Amino acid sequence: SNQKQTHGFQAEVSRLLNLMIHSLYSNREIFLRELISNASDACDKLRFMSLDNPSLSEASGEPVITLSVDKENGTLSITDNGIGMDEAEVIENLGTIARSGTETFLASLSGDQKKDSQLIGQFGVGFYSAFIVADKVAVESRKAGTDVDAGVRWESDGEGEFTVEAVNRDHVGTSVILHLRDDAKEFLDPFKLRQVVNQYSDHVAFPIRMSTLGDADDAPTEETLNSATALWQRPRNDVSDEEYQSLYRHISHDFQDAMSWSHNKVEGKLEYTSLLYVPARAPFDLYHRDANRGLKLYVQRVFIMDDAEQFLPQYLRFIKGVVDAPNLPLNVSRELLQDYGPVKTIRSALTKRVLQMLKKLGNDKDKYPAFWSQFGQVLKEGIGEDPDNREAIAALLRFASSHEGQGLTSLDDYLERKPADQEKIYYLLADTASAARQSPHLEVFRKKGIEVLLLSDPVDEWMISYLDSYKDVKLVNAARGELNLDEHTESQEDSALVARLKASLAEEVETVRATRRLVDSPSCLVLAEDQLGPQMRRMLEAAGQ
Ligand code: ADP
Ligand code: MG
Repeated sequence: SNQKQTHGFQAEVSRLLNLMIHSLYSNREIFLRELISNASDACDKLRFMSLDNPSLSEASGEPVITLSVDKENGTLSITDNGIGMDEAEVIENLGTIARSGTETFLASLSGDQKKDSQLIGQFGVGFYSAFIVADKVAVESRKAGTDVDAGVRWESDGEGEFTVEAVNRDHVGTSVILHLRDDAKEFLDPFKLRQVVNQYSDHVAFPIRMSTLGDADDAPTEETLNSATALWQRPRNDVSDEEYQSLYRHISHDFQDAMSWSHNKVEGKLEYTSLLYVPARAPFDLYHRDANRGLKLYVQRVFIMDDAEQFLPQYLRFIKGVVDAPNLPLNVSRELLQDYGPVKTIRSALTKRVLQMLKKLGNDKDKYPAFWSQFGQVLKEGIGEDPDNREAIAALLRFASSHEGQGLTSLDDYLERKPADQEKIYYLLADTASAARQSPHLEVFRKKGIEVLLLSDPVDEWMISYLDSYKDVKLVNAARGELNLDEHTESQEDSALVARLKASLAEEVETVRATRRLVDSPSCLVLAEDQLGPQMRRMLEAAGQ
């Protein structure tokens, strides 16, 4: 219909808008990154659809994103010639239906402005960031493959309602028109726009143009702001750190720089390029079962999908990045990726690549502890899940230790300190590292100067059950079974005492043994070789078993 309809925002959307406007002020230039990112996604989608239907891209021309500045009217518009939206899509995407992430987003807010603003975008709430700088936003769109009269115009002041009406629109694609707030007029300044595009959007693979209408002081101008080539296709030494970081921020919606990255091109029968990043901190949903994870997949430089999970194992789900595999079929689907031979080959190569990158990071005394505190727990899952790479993952583990040193230790450091005649690596499981330090089981080790690793993470007992040796040295639980630290024969007195204790404790324990384990404490409880430890027992109880 040609009539203007008014709709109410879905309740969560209203809350979100309120939050954006009032508290996400400190990073407000992100609105531009979000809108350019949507424009770029729209161009990606059109290119993808044109694979089946070439007339679509023929009609709309080379993809381009245009920032138009109108100083007189105080508006900034972001226009693309991408896929566009029809009326139903506009209503659904920009207002009535809370996007899946919205509720989780609201639940995750900390009240700390800076932190909260960093969450935006991770949830697919990017479009609404327009209201940080605009007191009125209009969206005009026309879907690819439709006629001039199929245009639609959406408009809102962000106060709870929006309107939708049919309009004529000459070109396919979308314009987002921002009526800038008085205190956001700096975004009419070409210098400012150049700087923000440079910082956040330089990697975008389509040209971003800026055009100013001109006013009494200035003549109209046109310029291209970015280099517009897929960054991962360029040779490594051609790409600056800042460019790598800019792409990272786009892919991850992170504000912080990546900690490290690895960019590789593999040639030969199965050709592919990968660019993999280690973030500096864990996303809020690292442990959510249905969280988005995986790499951005491109085939022949055409964007195919986000979150392609098949290219890395679960325990590396924190890695962000791009894989561009020109030999995969363009119509590849998630189902096909699942057990497609070439994908498995790439996955196993990328896994090794990431483990190598982490090994290198392990030598960085500043960065690695930070990495470990964010992602160490997840990495431990790999010990159980990935037998092929177990030793490489084990080399990345860090433990508290009875050794009086600073910080955590690796298994390699342990082996280096270990006297040549010590045949095993000892560890102790406890609820906390300090509980482990006080454990009577440690006494004899301490006395003999034998180092013991102190494991207190809930997953440690599960993990260590998969790690029975490292570099051919057995790992042994210091609290279990026979120790054989040295030969021990029971004396006559011992046997008499043991017999009496056995009799009186028959209900409580399986057996009583004399030991040289203890130095200061008179007795301690020991688990039999095949018994579940306390952490494991608690985990199983918690799981209802
Ligand atoms: P996300 O990009 O994470 O999906 P946004 O809030 O940024 O979340 O955008 C919401 C949705 O609105 C997008 O998924 C897309 O369907 C639609 N959209 C936004 N901007 C455009 C655009 N320029 N062209 C086409 N569709 C768009
Ligand atoms: Mg978006």
